[in-house]
This record gives sequence, C-alpha cells and structure tokens, in this order.
Amino acid sequence: MTTYTPMMQQYLQVKEDYKDAFLFFRLGDFYEMFFEDAVNASQILEITLTSRDAGSKDRIPMCGVPHHSAKNYIETLVQKGYKVAICEQTEDPKQAKGVVRREVVQLITPGTIMEGKALDGKTNHFIGAAEQLDSKSYGYAYLDLSTGEAVASSIEGDEKALLMQMQAYGIRELVVAEELQTLFAEHAMNLGIVLSIEADEMAMDKAAAYVEAVPTNIQHACRRLLAYIDQTQMRSLSHIQAFTFNEMKNYLRIDSSSKRNLELIQSIRGGDQKGTLLWLLDDTVTAMGGRKLKQWLHQPLASRTAIEARLEVVTDLLEEYFVRTELQASLKQVYDLERLAGRVAFGNVGGRDLAQLRDSLRQVPMIQHQLVNASKETLQKLGAMLDICADVEALLAHAITDNPPITIKEGNVIRDGYNDRLDELRYASRNGKDWIAQLEQEERVKTGIKNLKIGYNRIFGYYIEITKSNIHLADLTRYERKQTLANAERYITQELKEKEALILNAEEESLTLEYDLFVEIREELKAFIPRVQALAASISELDVLLSFASVSEKYRFTKPEFHTGRALKIIEGRHPVVEKMLNKQMYVPNDCVLEENQNMMLITGPNMSGKSTYMRQVALIVVMAQMGCYVPAEKAVLPITDQIFTRIGAADDLAAGQSTFMVEMLESQHAITHATQNSLLLFDEIGRGTSTYDGMSLAQAMMEYIHDKIGANTLFSTHYHELTALEHELTRLQNVHVSATEKNGAVVFLHKVKKGAADKSYGIHVAQLAQLPEEILARARVLLENFESGKEESVVAPAPQVVEEQPIQMSLFVEEEQVPTVSPAEQDVLNSLEKVNIMGTSPMQAMNILYELQQQL
Ligand code: ADP
Repeated sequence: MTTYTPMMQQYLQVKEDYKDAFLFFRLGDFYEMFFEDAVNASQILEITLTSRDAGSKDRIPMCGVPHHSAKNYIETLVQKGYKVAICEQTEDPKQAKGVVRREVVQLITPGTIMEGKALDGKTNHFIGAAEQLDSKSYGYAYLDLSTGEAVASSIEGDEKALLMQMQAYGIRELVVAEELQTLFAEHAMNLGIVLSIEADEMAMDKAAAYVEAVPTNIQHACRRLLAYIDQTQMRSLSHIQAFTFNEMKNYLRIDSSSKRNLELIQSIRGGDQKGTLLWLLDDTVTAMGGRKLKQWLHQPLASRTAIEARLEVVTDLLEEYFVRTELQASLKQVYDLERLAGRVAFGNVGGRDLAQLRDSLRQVPMIQHQLVNASKETLQKLGAMLDICADVEALLAHAITDNPPITIKEGNVIRDGYNDRLDELRYASRNGKDWIAQLEQEERVKTGIKNLKIGYNRIFGYYIEITKSNIHLADLTRYERKQTLANAERYITQELKEKEALILNAEEESLTLEYDLFVEIREELKAFIPRVQALAASISELDVLLSFASVSEKYRFTKPEFHTGRALKIIEGRHPVVEKMLNKQMYVPNDCVLEENQNMMLITGPNMSGKSTYMRQVALIVVMAQMGCYVPAEKAVLPITDQIFTRIGAADDLAAGQSTFMVEMLESQHAITHATQNSLLLFDEIGRGTSTYDGMSLAQAMMEYIHDKIGANTLFSTHYHELTALEHELTRLQNVHVSATEKNGAVVFLHKVKKGAADKSYGIHVAQLAQLPEEILARARVLLENFESGKEESVVAPAPQVVEEQPIQMSLFVEEEQVPTVSPAEQDVLNSLEKVNIMGTSPMQAMNILYELQQQL
C-alpha cells in the first residue's frame, strides 16, 4: 500500500468500507473507478477502460463517468442489482493541505434509489428487512424511501414463503443479519432479491417513535432496517413515517403463489399487468391512488366494519355521479404529494417539484368543497376530515414562481416580492443599464456639465468621464480620479462603485441568494411533511374508492353483503377479467352456493368447459368484496374469509427448480397446514401431475382430510370421475359439473355449472363428434363397459404425460367399489389381462385378446 500515491491510498482506505459496492470516487468533474471496479464497470456500462499511474510499479485500471451524467450510469448499475457508493470531495480543494478530504456521502442500492425509472409512479419502491421469530415464522418490515410509508408484519412459513412474499410486494433489497444470509441466499437470488447485511439495529431511544405500534419481537426487523437506511443514506430521514403494524388477522391473507395463480397483480405469464385484477380495477387518476390500490389488493381486509365503511363510500359515490366526475377531474390535477414530500425531506427536491406541490395543494380546497357539498353524509365527513394544508400552499404561492426550471441553480425559482434583497439584486441586474443612464442624468444636473458621461471598461469598471474644459466643475468631495486621458479625466464615486458591484455581482449573487432562500423554504417545509403525508393518504384512498365506483358502474358490479356465518352465496357470478376479455361475446354467469353444512364442491366437466374460471371467479369475488369494492354478481352474500389458498394448474414454478408436481404438492401442503374453517380453498385438478392412481388417491385423501379436519369452504375440480362417488361418504360435499353439448356435430361448451356429476361417457361422445374412426370408438365403448363392470385391476395406469395430453380428460376408470370374490378361472383371466400392454396393442390384437380371455371363462 505504501507504494501508492497518497490519493490512491485514500481511495483504498475508503474502498475497504465499501467492498460490495462500486465506489464512485470524485476527481474534479469525474467519478473515477479503479482496479476491479473499473474492469467490471467498464463492461457493464460499456465505457472505456484506461489506466493510470498510481505510484506503484504497474499502472492500474481506471474508468470514469462525467459527474453531470452520473445519474444514468448509477441507475443502470443499481437496476442490475449492484450498489454504488458516492464518494465526494468534502473540503474545498483550495484550502486542502495535501490530499483533498473525500467521504462517502450516500450508498445507492436497489432498495434506496430515489431517481429514475425504478420509481414508476404507480409502484411503491420498497426496501425490506426480515428477522426470524421462530422455526416457522418471520417478522418483517419494509418502507418506501420515496414516500415515507413504513409497514411491519409477520408471516407464518419458511424462508421461501417469506422471500416470495417479499417479492410479491416488489421488494428488491432485503436487509438481514449475517446469520440469515446463507439461509436466504439461494432463494433470494432466484427471486431477484438483493440481500444486504446490517449487523446493527437502530438504538431504541432513536427508533422509539418509529416502532411504537409494532410488537417487540418484530421491532428488531424495523430497527435493523432503520439502521441500514441511516448508515447508507446519511441524511435526514424525517419523512419516514412510524411503522404501521399489519396484524395478520386484520387482513385477508393470500400467499404469494395464490396471488399469482389468481392473477391479482401479475399475470401468470409475467410481463405486463394486462389481464390482472389490478388492471381491471385501476381507474385511479393519481400515482398515489395507483399505489394504494395495489396495496389494498395485496391486503384485502378481514374486518367487517372496515370493509363496510369502504363499501358505503363506494355506494354514495355511485349515487352522486356529478360529485364523482368533479372529484376525479380535480384529482387529475394532483401530483404525487407523497413523493414530493419525500423529496423535500430527502433534500433532492427541485424548483419544479415545489411548484407541483403548490399546484396540487391548490386543488385541495376544491376537492374539499366538492365533498362537503355532496348530499351524502359519508362524503361530507371525508371532506370535513381533510387537512387542506392551506398554510403550505400559501408559503409556496408566495415564494415560488409559476414555472420554475428543474434545477435550482439556474435561478427564476423564487417569486418577485418574496425577499427584498433578491428584488434589489434582480432589479440591479435587469435594470443596470437604465440605472447608469439615470445616474448620468442626475450627475449632469448636479454638476451642471452637459457632456458628462458614464462609461465602462474592463480595468476600471464604471467611471464618470469629464472633458478637460469642465474638470473644474467636478465635485471632488465625491469624485475620485482614476485615469487621465489626453482631453478628459475619469472618475469614480463611492455610489458608482457600490452600484457597479451590485450590477456586476447581481446576477451571481441573486443566484446564490435564490439557492439559499430555496434551501430555507425547503427546511421550513420539512415541518409540514407529516401533514402533507396525511393529506396524501386521504387523497389516495379517495382516488381508489372513486376507482371502485367507476369500475363498478362500468362493469355492472353489485354491492356484496356480509354475514356472520360461513355460508357463501353468489348468484350469477362472473369472472370480471375473462368477461372483459371476451369482448362482446356473452359471458355465462354462474351461481355458487356453499351452505354451512355443505360447503365443499366437486366440479367435473371436460377440459375447457370453464371449471378453472368458475373457481377463480369465486375467489376474485371474495377478494374484491373484502377490498371494499362491488362484485361481478347479481347478488353475493359472503362470510368474512380469513385466507385464500389455491392450487391451480399450469402455474409452473420451474424458475425455482422444482417439478410441477412437487410445486403442486408444496402448495397443497401449505394450504392444508394453514387453512382454517374460515378459509377458502381452491384445488384445481389435484393429482394430475402424477400417475392416475397416485393422483386420484391423493386427491381423495386430501378431500377427506379437508372435509373432516379443516371444514373450510372448498372448491375442488377434477377429471377423475371416480371422485364424484365421494358425495355419498362426505356429507358436506356436493357434485356439480360444467355442461357442454353438441351443435351441428361440434362440441359447444355452455360454461354453465349445474348440479350433479358430469356424464361419464362424455369423452367418447366428444371423440365421436371429432369423427374418430368408428373402430376406435367401438373399442372404447367395449373397454368402458368392461372397466365399469368392476375389473379395475386390469387397468394399466398410463404414463403421466399421457394423462396430461388427453384432449378430453374424462375418466377411463371405474368408480371405486368392492372387488367381488373371483373364481380361479376368473383369476387366471385377470392375471393374463394384467399383463397386457394396452398401449402397445392394436385394436385388432385387442379384439383377439378379448376373445381368448372370454373363451377361458
Ligand atoms: P377448464 O378449467 O375447465 O379447462 P377454463 O376455466 O380454463 O376451463 O375455461 C376455458 C375457456 O372457456 C376460458 O378461457 C374462457 O374463455 C371460457 N369460459 C370459461 N368460463 C366461461 C363462462 N362462464 N362464460 C363464457 N366463457 C367461459
């Protein structure tokens, strides 16, 4: 180390503390990177790698980015999951003895970046922290540095469940103690979550106000997160709000895979949000409202009073059409108050931001007026509760120009009349020439010299010039001679020099003063941040409720009712997203009635008949209702559901390296261990990922278990027709089927759910419609009959992929029943039959085998 130059030694010392980050080392107008950082960054950012003499024997690798365009490079690195430490010169180079002092002033990480695309308006940008509570549960905390929102909660489950939950919330960076890193590393990497280690927790006296509402064991996660933010951001975090504690029992819990299966926020195929419930429900007009809606979707409520309070507002908004449209029009003019408040606190607020804050606040009295003057009491109350922050608006209206530029240093941010000195400076610089001309006039009058003139040159600045013939008239009490020319003398006066300084420095000085005033205003505004945040919260909720009203009207939703029992009754329910996607085509509405004593439904029907859609629509109606939104049904009378679990086919979780069947079993396990009698379970085609017997047995065993041990409202779909016989055993089970019919020789799916099990020979019927050769159909009929006569041992279970690929998955197998006692001759036949390789047998061979077997009886 000693061989390096002093500056390089300084670099290496700083780098020591930021090993896991790219160190942006400020040198003049550039941020430079050295050594490995330089090699890696030059590749990632596609910038030139050079080298530099650093005092050692060899030159060292170096690359750099200009200071003024660093933002984009930082964003690229952080987007890719890296961290960037910004190391600035923290003393004036002119005053420095030896190497200029440099310090890291901020660590920018995926969870803390405050600029750029990462901050999409309608998405929160959360950073999280987690702490293990016991072997089966985790406490976690997360906050959005840009808006100040902070939440703490807990989750039952293993590290994967936790990390999936974190991912579902959009958390890119998770802060943990060192012990958890190894445990989390693999899953975190698969889910694209960056783990950051923080050894400390913020001291209790400093953290107390933030964590008051959080139970002690979960406070650790909050405090570790606060410590990390404090460590990395190194500035006031006055806008971070106290953590709200989301107690699990207050919310309808939906695990992250169910959120995906139901396509609440992300579609199963990933990509954009089209086709999700969020996409359908989002008629919000502000970015804050968009984020709030997403939060509500993540956490529908489980308190009937709270749900009904939201529903009441939606009802009133629906009835007050004009109020609603006026409110939406006003809200459209409101910028992102939360993020603006965040920028004020963070210190990266610009002139334009303050103008946006002012213009947004200007809308609020209007919004209040519209609410207070509505005829509904709920709306009047909402209006009365708004703190319109008139004082903040007044301050900004007085201080900030109409259209300030983005950067503060260009000037034109502070309004005329706000500060006398600034006015003077501006006056001087704007009117400097006028003033000089006026002074010239005044001096002519005072001295009586008609040809007195004021001139300017670079050496002496402004001067008064008097011709030789008039110098006896010069007022030498005020005039000081500066220069003698052949036929004139040049003078300066005290006043002229003062004005000159004013004029020449006015521009520069007014810019500095504007900046200072701006900082002063920004500091003053900090005191108002909690109030602006509270206003933002009210406005975003109003925006979401307005959105509920407008989609409810647009898609003909109705108000759900809740009751204290567990029965669930949906009349003419629809899947709102599928309905919208079908465009003009008619969506077929369906009832779903789960009675207290008959709350399990087994749904049969051919592929593509609509089983899965039916199940999802029930879940979506429950979710929407508990969010406080109207629902797509003629009528819905619902219980308060505590959790929703789904096992829905086709959600391939291959990213996590598990086979589909394993995922299926894991999801089932999760559901079965966590569900209560107040939960809603959806099991779509359980067991289809394994061989027939295997799958069917598992499906039946699960249904029995749910029936006997859990008692949750359950929808089960299957293509194992045999399972329909369970209706006799399981008293709370009812069979329904989705019907299909034929029309002009083609299968027509009616998508209508009807009582009872599906027709068993439906598959052969469809095959006939598809004009399969009569030979095959005849053979199939024989086989079916044969199987139905109870000889199930003879059936060789086809390979799993065969089961999956059957276009019509009606069962080929008989219902379970007692195997009759067999004679020795019959046993022989059975034994031979068992050996037959059906898959490798042609229809003609099969006929022959059948014939021979028959002869043996
Ligand atoms: P299954 O689960 O039985 O294989 P799906 O639920 O996936 O069938 O439905 C298949 C398709 O049928 C859906 O994509 C949708 O287009 C259509 N569909 C389902 N239910 C309805 C309905 N009630 N009304 C109209 N079309 C429907």
